[in-house]
Amino acid sequence: MIENLKFPVAGMDGQGPLVSLVVPVFNECGSVGPFVAAVNAAIAGSWSGAEMPPRFEIVFVDDGSSDGTRETVRAMCRTDLRIKLVSLSRNFGKEAALSAGLKAASGDAVIPMDVDLQDPPELLRPMIEQWRAGAQVVNAKRADRSADTLFKRSSSRFFYKTINSLAEYPIANDVGDFRLFDRVAVDALNRMTEHSRFNKGLFSWIGFRTETIEYTRPSRSVGDTKWNVSKLLALALDGIVASTTFPLRIWTALGALISLSAFFYAAFLIIHTLAYGVDTPGYASLMVAVLFLGGLNLLSLGLMGEYIGRISKQVRGRPLYIVSDTEGF
Ligand code: UDP
Ligand code: MG
Repeated sequence: MIENLKFPVAGMDGQGPLVSLVVPVFNECGSVGPFVAAVNAAIAGSWSGAEMPPRFEIVFVDDGSSDGTRETVRAMCRTDLRIKLVSLSRNFGKEAALSAGLKAASGDAVIPMDVDLQDPPELLRPMIEQWRAGAQVVNAKRADRSADTLFKRSSSRFFYKTINSLAEYPIANDVGDFRLFDRVAVDALNRMTEHSRFNKGLFSWIGFRTETIEYTRPSRSVGDTKWNVSKLLALALDGIVASTTFPLRIWTALGALISLSAFFYAAFLIIHTLAYGVDTPGYASLMVAVLFLGGLNLLSLGLMGEYIGRISKQVRGRPLYIVSDTEGF
Protein backbone atom coordinates (compact mmCIF):
# COMPACT_ATOMS: atom_id res chain seq x y z
CA MET A 1 0.00 0.00 0.00
CA ILE A 2 2.65 2.46 1.05
CA GLU A 3 4.40 2.22 -2.35
CA ASN A 4 1.34 3.80 -3.89
CA LEU A 5 2.15 6.96 -2.02
CA LYS A 6 5.36 7.46 -3.94
CA PHE A 7 3.20 7.99 -7.01
CA PRO A 8 4.40 11.30 -8.44
CA VAL A 9 1.58 13.65 -7.74
CA ALA A 10 1.04 16.78 -9.72
CA GLY A 11 0.26 19.70 -7.49
CA MET A 12 2.09 18.22 -4.56
CA ASP A 13 4.22 21.26 -4.08
CA GLY A 14 2.59 23.57 -6.56
CA GLN A 15 1.23 26.97 -5.72
CA GLY A 16 -2.37 27.97 -5.99
CA PRO A 17 -5.30 27.18 -3.73
CA LEU A 18 -5.26 24.33 -1.25
CA VAL A 19 -8.04 21.74 -1.41
CA SER A 20 -8.62 19.57 1.68
CA LEU A 21 -10.18 16.14 1.38
CA VAL A 22 -11.74 15.21 4.71
CA VAL A 23 -12.10 11.48 5.16
CA PRO A 24 -13.64 9.93 8.29
CA VAL A 25 -12.48 6.35 8.75
CA PHE A 26 -13.77 3.67 11.07
CA ASN A 27 -12.13 0.25 10.83
CA GLU A 28 -11.02 0.86 7.25
CA CYS A 29 -7.52 -0.61 7.41
CA GLY A 30 -7.88 -2.13 3.96
CA SER A 31 -9.49 0.90 2.33
CA VAL A 32 -7.15 3.80 3.09
CA GLY A 33 -4.33 2.63 0.79
CA PRO A 34 -6.54 2.13 -2.27
CA PHE A 35 -8.28 5.42 -1.49
CA VAL A 36 -5.06 7.44 -1.50
CA ALA A 37 -3.90 5.62 -4.64
CA ALA A 38 -7.18 6.34 -6.41
CA VAL A 39 -7.08 10.01 -5.41
CA ASN A 40 -3.51 10.33 -6.64
CA ALA A 41 -4.38 8.64 -9.91
CA ALA A 42 -7.45 10.81 -10.39
CA ILE A 43 -5.47 13.99 -9.73
CA ALA A 44 -2.71 12.94 -12.09
CA GLY A 45 -5.29 11.96 -14.71
CA SER A 46 -7.51 15.03 -14.38
CA TRP A 47 -4.91 17.74 -14.71
CA SER A 48 -2.57 17.37 -17.62
CA GLY A 49 1.05 18.40 -17.24
CA ALA A 50 0.70 21.95 -18.47
CA GLU A 51 -2.28 22.81 -16.30
CA MET A 52 -1.80 24.02 -12.79
CA PRO A 53 -3.63 21.67 -10.40
CA PRO A 54 -4.54 22.93 -6.95
CA ARG A 55 -2.57 21.69 -3.99
CA PHE A 56 -4.19 18.91 -2.02
CA GLU A 57 -4.16 17.69 1.56
CA ILE A 58 -5.96 14.62 2.84
CA VAL A 59 -7.24 14.86 6.40
CA PHE A 60 -8.14 11.43 7.75
CA VAL A 61 -10.22 11.34 10.90
CA ASP A 62 -9.84 8.07 12.70
CA ASP A 63 -13.15 7.52 14.44
CA GLY A 64 -11.90 5.14 17.13
CA SER A 65 -10.94 2.26 14.85
CA SER A 66 -9.78 -0.96 16.47
CA ASP A 67 -8.24 -2.63 13.43
CA GLY A 68 -5.00 -0.72 12.99
CA THR A 69 -6.41 1.96 10.71
CA ARG A 70 -4.77 4.59 12.87
CA GLU A 71 -1.32 3.01 12.55
CA THR A 72 -1.76 2.58 8.80
CA VAL A 73 -2.63 6.23 8.32
CA ARG A 74 0.11 7.35 10.68
CA ALA A 75 2.66 5.47 8.58
CA MET A 76 1.30 7.19 5.49
CA CYS A 77 1.65 10.60 7.12
CA ARG A 78 5.37 9.97 7.45
CA THR A 79 5.90 9.25 3.76
CA ASP A 80 3.44 11.76 2.36
CA LEU A 81 3.31 15.25 3.77
CA ARG A 82 -0.10 15.93 2.26
CA ILE A 83 -1.68 13.29 4.50
CA LYS A 84 -2.85 14.32 7.96
CA LEU A 85 -4.52 12.40 10.73
CA VAL A 86 -6.90 13.45 13.46
CA SER A 87 -7.58 10.61 15.88
CA LEU A 88 -10.68 10.58 18.03
CA SER A 89 -10.52 8.91 21.43
CA ARG A 90 -13.34 6.48 20.65
CA ASN A 91 -16.00 5.88 18.03
CA PHE A 92 -18.10 9.04 17.98
CA GLY A 93 -19.91 8.29 14.73
CA LYS A 94 -19.43 9.68 11.27
CA GLU A 95 -21.16 13.00 11.92
CA ALA A 96 -18.84 13.88 14.78
CA ALA A 97 -15.79 12.61 12.87
CA LEU A 98 -16.71 14.78 9.91
CA SER A 99 -17.06 17.81 12.15
CA ALA A 100 -13.62 17.16 13.61
CA GLY A 101 -12.21 16.92 10.09
CA LEU A 102 -13.87 20.15 8.94
CA LYS A 103 -12.29 21.93 11.91
CA ALA A 104 -8.86 20.47 11.20
CA ALA A 105 -8.84 21.11 7.45
CA SER A 106 -6.99 24.22 6.36
CA GLY A 107 -7.91 24.23 2.67
CA ASP A 108 -9.40 27.09 0.69
CA ALA A 109 -11.95 24.49 -0.32
CA VAL A 110 -12.88 21.41 1.67
CA ILE A 111 -14.42 18.20 0.33
CA PRO A 112 -15.67 15.48 2.69
CA MET A 113 -15.28 12.04 1.13
CA ASP A 114 -15.97 8.43 2.08
CA VAL A 115 -12.92 6.24 2.07
CA ASP A 116 -14.67 3.38 0.25
CA LEU A 117 -14.47 5.14 -3.15
CA GLN A 118 -18.23 5.53 -3.32
CA ASP A 119 -17.43 9.19 -3.81
CA PRO A 120 -15.47 8.96 -7.07
CA PRO A 121 -12.26 11.06 -7.01
CA GLU A 122 -12.75 11.70 -10.73
CA LEU A 123 -15.39 14.23 -9.69
CA LEU A 124 -12.80 16.33 -7.88
CA ARG A 125 -11.85 18.24 -10.98
CA PRO A 126 -15.40 19.12 -12.10
CA MET A 127 -16.25 20.15 -8.54
CA ILE A 128 -13.13 22.29 -8.25
CA GLU A 129 -13.88 23.88 -11.61
CA GLN A 130 -17.36 24.89 -10.45
CA TRP A 131 -15.77 26.34 -7.35
CA ARG A 132 -13.22 28.30 -9.33
CA ALA A 133 -16.06 29.56 -11.49
CA GLY A 134 -17.62 31.11 -8.41
CA ALA A 135 -19.70 28.47 -6.63
CA GLN A 136 -19.29 28.45 -2.86
CA VAL A 137 -20.85 25.03 -2.42
CA VAL A 138 -20.79 22.27 -5.04
CA ASN A 139 -23.15 19.35 -4.38
CA ALA A 140 -22.48 15.96 -5.92
CA LYS A 141 -25.91 14.47 -6.48
CA ARG A 142 -26.46 10.76 -6.95
CA ALA A 143 -28.36 10.61 -10.20
CA ASP A 144 -28.49 6.85 -10.07
CA ARG A 145 -28.53 4.85 -6.87
CA SER A 146 -28.94 1.45 -8.44
CA ALA A 147 -25.81 0.29 -6.62
CA ASP A 148 -27.62 0.67 -3.28
CA THR A 149 -29.95 -2.01 -2.00
CA LEU A 150 -33.67 -1.62 -2.61
CA PHE A 151 -34.18 -1.21 1.13
CA LYS A 152 -31.64 1.58 1.37
CA ARG A 153 -33.06 3.36 -1.66
CA SER A 154 -36.68 3.23 -0.56
CA SER A 155 -35.93 4.07 3.07
CA SER A 156 -33.83 7.03 2.02
CA ARG A 157 -36.54 8.26 -0.35
CA PHE A 158 -39.04 8.03 2.51
CA PHE A 159 -36.64 9.87 4.79
CA TYR A 160 -36.05 12.75 2.37
CA LYS A 161 -39.79 13.07 1.77
CA THR A 162 -40.55 13.17 5.50
CA ILE A 163 -37.84 15.57 6.50
CA ASN A 164 -38.49 17.89 3.58
CA SER A 165 -42.16 18.15 4.39
CA LEU A 166 -41.35 18.97 8.03
CA ALA A 167 -38.17 21.00 7.91
CA GLU A 168 -38.17 24.76 7.62
CA TYR A 169 -35.49 24.63 4.93
CA PRO A 170 -35.33 21.71 2.53
CA ILE A 171 -32.49 19.22 2.44
CA ALA A 172 -31.03 18.47 -0.98
CA ASN A 173 -32.30 15.09 -2.18
CA ASP A 174 -29.73 12.38 -2.79
CA VAL A 175 -26.78 14.59 -1.98
CA GLY A 176 -24.60 12.94 0.63
CA ASP A 177 -21.66 14.43 2.45
CA PHE A 178 -19.68 14.52 -0.80
CA ARG A 179 -19.72 18.24 -1.52
CA LEU A 180 -17.22 20.99 -1.99
CA PHE A 181 -17.28 23.84 0.49
CA ASP A 182 -15.54 27.12 0.02
CA ARG A 183 -13.64 28.39 3.08
CA VAL A 184 -16.49 30.79 3.97
CA ALA A 185 -18.92 27.87 4.06
CA VAL A 186 -16.53 25.75 6.15
CA ASP A 187 -16.10 28.60 8.62
CA ALA A 188 -19.88 28.89 8.83
CA LEU A 189 -20.20 25.16 9.52
CA ASN A 190 -17.48 25.33 12.14
CA ARG A 191 -19.40 28.04 13.95
CA MET A 192 -22.39 25.74 14.51
CA THR A 193 -22.32 24.76 18.14
CA GLU A 194 -25.08 22.20 18.24
CA HIS A 195 -24.41 18.79 19.66
CA SER A 196 -26.79 16.36 18.02
CA ARG A 197 -25.33 17.07 14.61
CA PHE A 198 -26.97 16.12 11.39
CA ASN A 199 -24.52 17.35 8.81
CA LYS A 200 -26.74 17.04 5.75
CA GLY A 201 -29.21 19.37 7.49
CA LEU A 202 -26.49 21.87 8.38
CA PHE A 203 -24.97 21.67 4.90
CA SER A 204 -28.30 22.67 3.39
CA TRP A 205 -29.07 25.22 6.06
CA ILE A 206 -25.98 27.38 5.51
CA GLY A 207 -27.03 28.31 1.98
CA PHE A 208 -24.42 30.06 -0.24
CA ARG A 209 -24.13 30.01 -4.03
CA THR A 210 -24.64 26.34 -4.78
CA GLU A 211 -24.00 24.34 -7.93
CA THR A 212 -24.90 20.69 -8.37
CA ILE A 213 -23.20 18.07 -10.48
CA GLU A 214 -24.62 14.60 -10.98
CA TYR A 215 -22.90 11.26 -10.80
CA THR A 216 -23.66 7.60 -10.54
CA ARG A 217 -22.80 6.22 -7.15
CA PRO A 218 -20.73 3.06 -7.38
CA SER A 219 -20.94 0.35 -4.75
CA ARG A 220 -18.41 0.06 -1.96
CA SER A 221 -14.99 -1.04 -3.22
CA VAL A 222 -13.42 -2.62 -0.10
CA GLY A 223 -14.68 -3.61 3.34
CA ASP A 224 -18.31 -3.39 4.29
CA THR A 225 -20.73 -0.72 5.34
CA LYS A 226 -20.39 0.68 8.84
CA TRP A 227 -24.09 1.44 9.06
CA ASN A 228 -26.82 -0.85 10.24
CA VAL A 229 -30.56 -0.31 10.43
CA SER A 230 -30.50 0.97 13.99
CA LYS A 231 -27.63 3.41 13.33
CA LEU A 232 -29.47 4.69 10.24
CA LEU A 233 -32.72 5.06 12.19
CA ALA A 234 -30.89 6.98 14.90
CA LEU A 235 -29.40 9.23 12.23
CA ALA A 236 -32.79 9.80 10.64
CA LEU A 237 -34.33 10.67 14.01
CA ASP A 238 -31.42 12.99 14.78
CA GLY A 239 -31.98 14.61 11.43
CA ILE A 240 -35.65 15.25 12.01
CA VAL A 241 -35.28 16.43 15.59
CA ALA A 242 -32.28 18.59 14.75
CA SER A 243 -33.85 20.39 11.83
CA THR A 244 -37.53 20.64 12.68
CA THR A 245 -39.82 21.68 15.50
CA PHE A 246 -42.93 20.62 13.62
CA PRO A 247 -43.57 17.33 15.50
CA LEU A 248 -43.81 19.37 18.70
CA ARG A 249 -46.46 21.63 17.23
CA ILE A 250 -48.84 18.96 15.95
CA TRP A 251 -50.38 18.67 19.40
CA THR A 252 -51.39 22.31 19.68
CA ALA A 253 -53.55 22.03 16.60
CA LEU A 254 -54.87 18.58 17.40
CA GLY A 255 -55.65 19.54 21.02
CA ALA A 256 -57.45 22.69 19.94
CA LEU A 257 -59.46 20.70 17.41
CA ILE A 258 -60.48 18.04 19.93
CA SER A 259 -61.33 20.58 22.65
CA LEU A 260 -63.43 22.54 20.22
CA SER A 261 -65.33 19.52 18.95
CA ALA A 262 -65.76 18.31 22.56
CA PHE A 263 -67.33 21.66 23.32
CA PHE A 264 -69.84 21.33 20.47
CA TYR A 265 -70.48 17.69 21.29
CA ALA A 266 -71.15 18.68 24.92
CA ALA A 267 -73.60 21.32 23.80
CA PHE A 268 -75.30 18.76 21.57
CA LEU A 269 -75.48 16.16 24.36
CA ILE A 270 -76.87 18.64 26.86
CA ILE A 271 -79.60 19.78 24.48
CA HIS A 272 -80.30 16.18 23.44
CA THR A 273 -80.60 15.06 27.08
CA LEU A 274 -82.85 17.99 27.96
CA ALA A 275 -85.11 17.35 24.98
CA TYR A 276 -85.28 13.52 24.85
CA GLY A 277 -84.23 12.46 28.34
CA VAL A 278 -81.36 10.16 29.37
CA ASP A 279 -80.53 7.12 27.14
CA THR A 280 -77.72 5.65 29.22
CA PRO A 281 -77.20 7.19 32.64
CA GLY A 282 -73.82 8.89 32.99
CA TYR A 283 -72.91 8.59 29.31
CA ALA A 284 -73.25 12.24 28.42
CA SER A 285 -71.31 13.66 31.33
CA LEU A 286 -68.58 10.99 31.08
CA MET A 287 -68.12 11.45 27.36
CA VAL A 288 -67.91 15.20 27.61
CA ALA A 289 -65.44 15.05 30.48
CA VAL A 290 -63.21 12.53 28.69
CA LEU A 291 -63.16 14.40 25.39
CA PHE A 292 -62.72 17.79 26.91
CA LEU A 293 -59.92 16.73 29.24
CA GLY A 294 -58.25 14.80 26.44
CA GLY A 295 -58.34 17.90 24.30
CA LEU A 296 -56.98 20.05 27.11
CA ASN A 297 -54.16 17.58 27.69
CA LEU A 298 -53.08 17.71 24.08
CA LEU A 299 -53.43 21.46 24.01
CA SER A 300 -51.18 21.89 27.02
CA LEU A 301 -48.71 19.38 25.57
CA GLY A 302 -48.69 21.42 22.41
CA LEU A 303 -48.15 24.60 24.38
CA MET A 304 -45.15 22.96 26.05
CA GLY A 305 -44.01 21.93 22.58
CA GLU A 306 -44.07 25.54 21.44
CA TYR A 307 -41.75 26.47 24.29
CA ILE A 308 -39.52 23.42 23.89
CA GLY A 309 -39.27 24.11 20.17
CA ARG A 310 -38.00 27.59 20.91
CA ILE A 311 -35.66 26.31 23.60
CA SER A 312 -34.18 23.72 21.27
CA LYS A 313 -33.68 26.32 18.58
CA GLN A 314 -31.96 28.59 21.06
CA VAL A 315 -29.83 25.78 22.44
CA ARG A 316 -28.71 24.81 18.95
CA GLY A 317 -27.06 28.20 18.99
CA ARG A 318 -26.93 28.57 15.24
CA PRO A 319 -26.09 32.06 14.07
CA LEU A 320 -29.08 34.16 13.10
CA TYR A 321 -27.68 34.57 9.61
CA ILE A 322 -24.52 33.87 7.70
CA VAL A 323 -22.68 36.50 5.69
CA SER A 324 -21.50 35.13 2.38
CA ASP A 325 -19.11 37.89 1.32
CA THR A 326 -18.62 41.57 1.83
CA GLU A 327 -17.12 44.26 -0.32
CA GLY A 328 -15.75 47.73 -0.03
CA PHE A 329 -15.01 47.85 3.67
N1 UDP B 1 -17.57 6.04 9.33
C1 UDP B 1 -17.05 6.65 10.49
N2 UDP B 1 -17.60 6.35 11.70
C2 UDP B 1 -18.68 5.51 11.84
C3 UDP B 1 -19.23 4.94 10.66
C4 UDP B 1 -18.65 5.23 9.42
O1 UDP B 1 -16.11 7.42 10.40
O2 UDP B 1 -19.12 5.29 12.97
C5 UDP B 1 -16.95 6.34 8.01
C6 UDP B 1 -16.53 5.13 7.20
O3 UDP B 1 -15.25 4.69 7.56
C7 UDP B 1 -16.58 5.64 5.77
C8 UDP B 1 -17.72 6.65 5.84
O4 UDP B 1 -17.92 6.97 7.21
O5 UDP B 1 -15.42 6.32 5.37
C9 UDP B 1 -18.98 6.10 5.20
O6 UDP B 1 -19.32 4.88 5.81
P1 UDP B 1 -19.94 3.69 4.98
O7 UDP B 1 -19.29 3.59 3.64
O8 UDP B 1 -19.89 2.48 5.84
O9 UDP B 1 -21.42 4.21 4.81
P2 UDP B 1 -22.40 3.93 3.57
O10 UDP B 1 -21.66 4.31 2.31
O11 UDP B 1 -22.72 2.48 3.61
O12 UDP B 1 -23.56 4.83 3.83
MG1 MG C 1 -19.96 3.75 1.73
